[in-house]
Amino acid sequence: MEEFIPFNKPYMTGRELENIRLAHEKSHLSGNGAFSKECHSWLEAEIKCDRALLTHSCTAALEIAALLIDVKPGDEIIMPSFTFVSTANAFALRGAVPVFVDIREDTLNLDEKLIESAITSRTRAIVVVHYAGVACEMDVIKSIAHRHDLRVIEDSAQAIKAYYKGQPLGSVGDLGALSFHETKNIIAGEGGALLVNDASLAEQAEVIWEKGTDRNQYQRGEVEKYTWQGLGSSFLPGEVTAAFLMAQLSMSDWITENRLDTWSKYHQELLPLEESGFLRRPIVPNHCLHNAHMYFVLLPGDICRETVLKKLNASGINAVFHYVPLHDSPGGQRFGRLGSSLKNTEDQSSRLIRLPLWVGISDSQVMRVVETLGANLMNAKTRDRH
Ligand SMILES: *Cc1c(COP(=O)(O)O)cnc(C)c1O
Repeated sequence: MEEFIPFNKPYMTGRELENIRLAHEKSHLSGNGAFSKECHSWLEAEIKCDRALLTHSCTAALEIAALLIDVKPGDEIIMPSFTFVSTANAFALRGAVPVFVDIREDTLNLDEKLIESAITSRTRAIVVVHYAGVACEMDVIKSIAHRHDLRVIEDSAQAIKAYYKGQPLGSVGDLGALSFHETKNIIAGEGGALLVNDASLAEQAEVIWEKGTDRNQYQRGEVEKYTWQGLGSSFLPGEVTAAFLMAQLSMSDWITENRLDTWSKYHQELLPLEESGFLRRPIVPNHCLHNAHMYFVLLPGDICRETVLKKLNASGINAVFHYVPLHDSPGGQRFGRLGSSLKNTEDQSSRLIRLPLWVGISDSQVMRVVETLGANLMNAKTRDRH
């Protein structure tokens, strides 16, 4: 049996334990301590957002976003069906209706041309998902939102250190949400951040973040005592998590470059298979700078994906599929509705395979993935066609 190549391997920079030791020494273990503040400043400087607030997950950041724009039962939120559950669940929790719009054939991102016909008098916001760290068409989406007085929220879970026309993702909409889950580029085990770009929302964001109180203002000496101000919850991670995260953030350039090297290797080595019609590689528009969050391929319709995945896994290569479209899931059917045909969503989600990509994967491991995938696709094509 050949060496197993996992799909993901969390990368540790080596600085995490020292940071955690420092947090331990300072004896401030709850949220919003020195390391949290350092993470906030780092994110605000790097992403150029008005306010960054660490959360215990991207899911939590999206839940704050839903509270912050005061989503009411029956309000409609436009989003892709090709996304993770939390994009929709955060709004469904407030009684809102996710309205699923199809994705583009090239980037697998929300198709901006289909958004306007999904808008009704109940529509409140557009939630974009930058799939694989490749930006959605934000100029068009923002002008639609402006015309119809809608909020734009970026689910940037996969998109730290990725850019749209030079702007960091997460800083383009009214609000952004990052994830530091261990499957993402920059990790804290579980973790996330809310990014506030509309300064008028910053103070209210802090209140929701701190259990519905003005504790943040109190700590800055702006009020004499802190009290219950409105709806909120406990969204802060503790300092041990922030200490871990700060170690990762400080190495984020290196981590991103390392992932981009692996991504480019896949992209170069898979070109011949694309040219012979065995797969399609990812398409990254020129004005998008991605962060190598994932490397995926789309198989042709006449090749059985499940067989290919089974064969790859039997050869010790942990390749995986991705989203079951939300409109096709019990939750999506119960809480959402269709905002367009979902032809591309259904077609592409059924043909997609994600390949192993993590900091430390070797060129020879990448070559083994490419060669094993190629051999299986050629076999499958002969078999399935006869
Ligand atoms: C990972 C992910 C999330 C959820 O992130 P958590 O930090 O685990 O809550 C949400 N949306 C997208 C698009 C994701 O990829």
